[in-house]
Amino acid sequence: MNEITCKLLVIGAGPGGYTCAIRAGQLGIDTIIVESEKPGGTCLNVGCIPSKALIHAAGEYETVTGVAEGKSALGIFCAKPSLDLGKTIAWKDGIVRRLNGGVAGLLKKAGVRLIAGHARFLDGKSIEVETQSAPQMIHAETVVIATGSEPVALPFLPFGGRVISSTEALALTEIPKKLVVVGGGYIGLELGTAFAKMGASIAVVEAAPRILPQYDSDLSEPVARHLNALGVTVLTGAKAKALVADGTALEIEAADSRQTTLDADRILVTVGRRPLTSGLGLETLDLDMNEPFIRINDQCRTSMRGVFAIGDITGEPMLAHRAMAQGEMVAEIVAGRRRAWDRVSIPAICFTDPEIVTVGLTPSEASGRGFEVKTDLFPFRANGRALTLEREDGFIRTVARADNHLLLGIQGVGAGIAELSAAFSLALEMGARLEDVAMTIHAHPTQSEGFHEAALKSLGHAIHI
Ligand code: FAD
Ligand code: NAD
Repeated sequence: MNEITCKLLVIGAGPGGYTCAIRAGQLGIDTIIVESEKPGGTCLNVGCIPSKALIHAAGEYETVTGVAEGKSALGIFCAKPSLDLGKTIAWKDGIVRRLNGGVAGLLKKAGVRLIAGHARFLDGKSIEVETQSAPQMIHAETVVIATGSEPVALPFLPFGGRVISSTEALALTEIPKKLVVVGGGYIGLELGTAFAKMGASIAVVEAAPRILPQYDSDLSEPVARHLNALGVTVLTGAKAKALVADGTALEIEAADSRQTTLDADRILVTVGRRPLTSGLGLETLDLDMNEPFIRINDQCRTSMRGVFAIGDITGEPMLAHRAMAQGEMVAEIVAGRRRAWDRVSIPAICFTDPEIVTVGLTPSEASGRGFEVKTDLFPFRANGRALTLEREDGFIRTVARADNHLLLGIQGVGAGIAELSAAFSLALEMGARLEDVAMTIHAHPTQSEGFHEAALKSLGHAIHI
């Protein structure tokens, strides 16, 4: 067997792994990265990027359809549009291919060796890689596990046939007539909304009492309202039970315990993701686990010396930017720099319509930690820019300590507000107080003025409300 050595071996070229490898290469560390699929991981190939491409296309189609149906108040008219989902998917695949090449190019530029194949631990420093040609043995001083996650299947609804995960949903070339989505969380609602805008009839079956249970109801309510306006059936407190015998419908138990069936030509199961540990030979390492995830400390070190873990394999929040931040930190630790996880917050965005952005603590989380808080929100119906963009549903909310006005959290819900997450994160990371936001000139007319006004309102002198 061919044997090679390196200082750092990264397993998995998703956002966590490739960021770690690129930074390590920049720091002059002799680095190898092993990837069994295409560079970019879940995020680039079957996650963040393809889903946002589909959401954008669906939004464009919805806008034109609304105009054709005479729903536009802007004085615009056009003929009825049509959508060729095959072409949309080909466009999305083109973006993914460009980014695959981009990641491979960045790894090369950083001097990182990319090996295509499936990696398996023999021990903490020896990894066997099954490549297309022959097995390859790699001996590394340090190993980073960045193998990510995979969709959770329900035992009575295994993936296959009409039952699909997000991966298949992002590759459909025909719009399903009737799509049942099991799980009203991030993926179910992002994709469910997109397919609803493309003309599919959607039913969402969510086990919790409300959709997006990870967010507070003030944030999820505008999303629920818009799903209703789109004609999406949302069944909360409902359980998927089984496929009917011929597979054309899903049996469910509604919140009132009534049994019913939902016709479906596709059933999209989005009930969470689990760490991808299978076939990795982890049993040979006997790492401490935080079941089902790998346990790490504040430097992403596992219980075995010289073995780090980053990204989805280490638990919630399973977000690409968390994986990237961990990857960059680990590369610097391997290079001998003094680093530890010291980030104030990890922003989260749900790309539903409207979008939800959260950074830091919500009012109830802050109170739960013993803070006396001042919390205020500014509604977009009082924001000129939001009105000109027909985006008046939603708000921006600030959560600050009552004693010294230090911002503890910022949340918002509104169409197109994902980009505001940068301002929110920066404010929190820099330790801003309400007065800092109030004294910052926010350009007019922008939705960001809602942030300024929420801070002013908390200080008792909002101007525009
Ligand atoms: P991954 O991206 O999963 O990469 C792991 C890589 O390791 C994979 O390429 C895999 O092939 C490889 N691998 C696994 N085992 C082996 C092995 N034994 N040998 C070699 N290679 C191996 N997050 C966001 O922040 N924003 C979003 O908008 C967003 N949207 C999403 C939409 C969808 C539909 C999905 C499914 C996820 C979304 N996510 C989003 C989550 C995001 O994709 C993940 O948090 C992120 O990809 C995790 O990065 P990672 O590097 O930990 O793992
Ligand atoms: P999720 O945790 O967001 O949502 C799963 C939903 O399924 C929950 O609301 C849960 O109550 C429900 N559920 C669980 N079991 C059920 C059952 N048997 N019947 C009905 N409902 C059930 O998980 P997801 O949507 O699969 O996404 C997985 C992860 O991917 C997310 O946690 C997130 O970290 C990541 N992601 C992020 C983004 C983003 O950042 N915009 C987008 C997509 C995915």
